[in-house]
Amino acid sequence: MGNFSLAEILHNSKYLVCLTGREMIVEDGIDSMRDMKTAYEIELKYGYSPEEVFSAQFFSTRPEQFYKFYRDEVLAQVKEPGKAYYALAALEKMGILKCTITRQLFNLVKRAGCQNVYNLHGNIYDNNHCPRCGRIYSIDYMKKGKIPLCEKCGIPIHPGVILLGEMVEIGLTTRAADEVSKADTLLILGSDMRTEMVQQFIKYFQGERVVLINAGPHFADQEADYCLYGKIADILTAAVEELQGKPEYLRQEEVMEEAEKGPSA
Ligand SMILES: [Zn+2]
Repeated sequence: MGNFSLAEILHNSKYLVCLTGREMIVEDGIDSMRDMKTAYEIELKYGYSPEEVFSAQFFSTRPEQFYKFYRDEVLAQVKEPGKAYYALAALEKMGILKCTITRQLFNLVKRAGCQNVYNLHGNIYDNNHCPRCGRIYSIDYMKKGKIPLCEKCGIPIHPGVILLGEMVEIGLTTRAADEVSKADTLLILGSDMRTEMVQQFIKYFQGERVVLINAGPHFADQEADYCLYGKIADILTAAVEELQGKPEYLRQEEVMEEAEKGPSA
């Protein structure tokens, strides 16, 4: 792989698509349900594995226990987006990053300012809905009562996330796969090449380079063209700062500021 500059690779990308993985979440201190220790603690606390509790079947048969878990283990972990997500937003504003595909549930990519995001597994903010009438409820409403019930139908509201055993919206997956097929550069953050998500999308990639940034090496890293190891936020932020030093991007930011001022002036 030799020496290379991430900033140069990003700069030379015509169509950059990003996949964000589990390590992005871990880096920001949000527990992952698949973490062994967490999984064990959850099993002790609830008498079921996280996979069992976070499932469509559990939601429909034991909504009260489901909601205890959802609030204590999922909603309680909501954090502000970390620096890495703001770096992605900056890359999108520069016109380099075309879209981000993620499975995390906290809407961190959008909350950091990215516009083009595929939240494949939904998120805790949007689409909290009544399974019968489809009415949408806010995240605050989801914290009310033992079980948040639809005001009209009186049945448990389904959270805006995909539960185990439920289908990801096919149209969403197809559009995300389309984006990957258009990419000349695929940026994989916080995942190795063998995770289910990367495997799902890499088969559509027809571009020139795969860039992987992760906490540490993995045996399958040779399947990527470029690998960087360390804190994802630091690596990505440094590259973005380097790009922001280039005159074309400064101009672009100025153009954007003008555009933002425009309608309100
Ligand atoms: Zn309803």
